[in-house]
Amino acid sequence: MKNYFGAPIKKLGFGFMRLPTLPGKPDTEIDLEKVNEMVDLYMSKGFSYFDTAYVYHGGKSEVAIRECVVKRYPRDKFQVTTKLPLWGPTTVERMKEITAEQLERTGLEFFDLYFLHGLGPDSLAQIDGGAWDYLKSLKANGTAKNIGFSYHGNAAGLKTLLDAHGEDVDIVQLQLNYLDWDSEDVQSKLCYEEVSKRGIGVVVMEPLKGGTLVNFADSVKKVLTDANPNASVASWALRFPIDLDGTVTVLSGMNTIDNVKDNINTAENYPAKLTEADHKVIQTVLEELKKVPTIPCTRCNYCAPNCPQNINIPGILGVVNDYAKFQNLAGAKMNYGRMTGPNPFGPPGVVPAKASDCVNCGTCVEHCPQHIKIPDELKKAVELLEK
Ligand code: SF4
Ligand code: SF4
Repeated sequence: MKNYFGAPIKKLGFGFMRLPTLPGKPDTEIDLEKVNEMVDLYMSKGFSYFDTAYVYHGGKSEVAIRECVVKRYPRDKFQVTTKLPLWGPTTVERMKEITAEQLERTGLEFFDLYFLHGLGPDSLAQIDGGAWDYLKSLKANGTAKNIGFSYHGNAAGLKTLLDAHGEDVDIVQLQLNYLDWDSEDVQSKLCYEEVSKRGIGVVVMEPLKGGTLVNFADSVKKVLTDANPNASVASWALRFPIDLDGTVTVLSGMNTIDNVKDNINTAENYPAKLTEADHKVIQTVLEELKKVPTIPCTRCNYCAPNCPQNINIPGILGVVNDYAKFQNLAGAKMNYGRMTGPNPFGPPGVVPAKASDCVNCGTCVEHCPQHIKIPDELKKAVELLEK
């Protein structure tokens, strides 16, 4: 593994995207006292990597980096990664303005790692329009010590990006967890292999899949607690990417001091490598998840193009099914919002309708090879996700 930061770093990164906020205040009002306490505990154990982005907490995450880390610790004791958004206008002039604003917000003179934020399988033409050359210029002039991108998409799209620009890339940030490892959508394993075979480092995001891998149905949780009553459910999810040789660090969007304590305990006190028995436990969890009763939607998408209301039927049914398995209502509502509202990563101008927009015409049912009573399922989705 290349030494990106002057010295090896520990494999627990502090994600500044879900910071505690002041009671009753919006997402932009971060509780800096609590964050200081969390940062102090994290730093006191020799951890050092902080991840932020221009858009997190409406821009206040980068300010929290300045107040809680940069002003309080020597520069050689921590690393900061931030990200340049490519939605909205992306002229070179605008990108320069954003980078200058990020330096001012964070109080830094350089970033240890600078990413293009949230590239997808179709991003090549966009980054070839100026963003990639701009990113390289930041490394050349010392504003960024390392460069790369965070990625949401399949392995084929990632290969296209890396075939074009892999020789410039130091690190790629990937969604990687044991649930998505073999999934058709996220393809964590294939993406990880695509990056690491080129000698490029991987920073892991969403090791807990946004909290999903700590909120299982009871039957699934029991597999983990039976295997080790002393290990937290989250520790299993964190250890999976820590175990991989090609990972530089593993991010956790820590929200409370207890999160920090538990994650430190996992990173410090378990063996770096999962045993064969550990892998079997994880396999059993995946098998138990398949047994949880769900709507038998295969995501074939024969229904949605025929819906006069433009309802993202497979997307909504997928959220309902995820809730059945993971019992994470907050996460389900957030995903439902993504499926049914404006999406900065989606096609411009397309806003899918909500389940409550269903007019019960029945057209979708005629097209569904699984004979799912879609309007009835959408009514249940309204009760679960819109109330
Ligand atoms: S029943 Fe509802 S979801 Fe199905 S096609 Fe009609 S409006 Fe769309
Ligand atoms: S047609 Fe049926 S199985 Fe296919 S995506 Fe729609 S609801 Fe799911």
